[in-house]
Amino acid sequence: MTIDKFNFAGKKAIVRVDFNVPLDENGKITDDTRIRGALPTLKHILNNGGALIIMSHMGKPKGKVQAKFSLGQIKDAVAAALGCPVQFAEDCAKAQAQAAALKPGEVLLLENLRFYPEEEGKPVGIEKEDPAYEPAKKEMKARQKEFAKTLASYADCYVMDAFGTAHRKHASTAVIADYFDADNKMLGFLMEKEVNAVDAILKDIKRPFVAIMGGSKVSSKIGIIENLLGKVDKLILCGGMTYTFAKAHGGEIGNSIVELDKLDVALGVEELAKKNGVELVMAEDAICGDSFSNEAKQQVCPSNAIPEGWEGMDAGPKAQKAFADAIRGAKTILWNGPAGVFEFDNFCDGSRAIGNAIAEATANGAFSLIGGGDSVACVNKFGLADQVSYISTGGGALLEAIEGKILPGIAAIKGE
Ligand code: AMP
Repeated sequence: MTIDKFNFAGKKAIVRVDFNVPLDENGKITDDTRIRGALPTLKHILNNGGALIIMSHMGKPKGKVQAKFSLGQIKDAVAAALGCPVQFAEDCAKAQAQAAALKPGEVLLLENLRFYPEEEGKPVGIEKEDPAYEPAKKEMKARQKEFAKTLASYADCYVMDAFGTAHRKHASTAVIADYFDADNKMLGFLMEKEVNAVDAILKDIKRPFVAIMGGSKVSSKIGIIENLLGKVDKLILCGGMTYTFAKAHGGEIGNSIVELDKLDVALGVEELAKKNGVELVMAEDAICGDSFSNEAKQQVCPSNAIPEGWEGMDAGPKAQKAFADAIRGAKTILWNGPAGVFEFDNFCDGSRAIGNAIAEATANGAFSLIGGGDSVACVNKFGLADQVSYISTGGGALLEAIEGKILPGIAAIKGE
């Protein structure tokens, strides 16, 4: 089923959203992008005569009730965004009566799903190496099904709109779909948009295709990097991983972040790029600091000749120009991960150069997709959000989708 064709009149819809929003120490939302992202789906259901049961996780409470991860803190913000009152179910697994009493146009927000270990379906407090782990996992999987069944019992139909967690096979993102037939389960508008954006990158690629992978480590991105080397024309590798590559060639990197056990991985990436005819673009120079702070003293050094006591914290001026030149002529662009410690205003110029070049290429007709919390934060920080084609709400989910994996949250709806 598709959301635009479904008739919600008189129906109760249970909707999995991603309301895992950042909160400050007073429990106030610091960025409501994720709430705004879910509004088209939620408002559509209400306007169409349905009642809403909204469910989400927040943070990592590891299967225990913890007040600081309570979704009760965002109830009023959700009500303000929807423009109608929102009821709250303090126990997401005991909300039968509240759900049953819902009338068309009414909204019930369930407490954090991850207060129950059943949501993630992994045993808590037992190490994987422990012989008790496998039996405990089996038992937990059975409990996960029961938990999903309970959630499903609240509603007539299920809408999956949490792209950020679509790569997880959790009770609310995938298992619950087993309790609805194909006519009563569907993706929400946000999910549809995300899937279309990934399709735009994977199918019918307009060339040149330039990807920019940054962030702190090569190890967490190696899967997607290897995968992209089969698809892109140019790959910019930047951020902290620069120094693992420099070290792999015997460079001096001072105190820069490095993964010494991944030097062979770095060399392998270079070899694969050469084999596939992909141009790798890496930072020739670095803006270095004498401490990990915004106020650190600065000097520009070659990325492979950083003195002791200094660390590479951003792409240098030559690198910034090389990145911008590589991006400028692109027709398809994917950006994940900053070029430096962009959170420090004095070390964000490399990421800014990338953002500006992407905006320029987009104005010249390129399709640009930005994904992952930090690159999205960069684009917002530099005021470029409306100058790129699409900003994804997914980090890991986006990368897995681009790797060509079928996400469990999508498979559960489409039956793939
Ligand atoms: P990731 O979660 O792997 O995408 O990494 C994002 C983080 O990488 C951001 O918080 C950046 O501050 C950090 N980062 C980027 N470049 C560097 C660098 N040269 N040294 C240390 N951290 C960095």
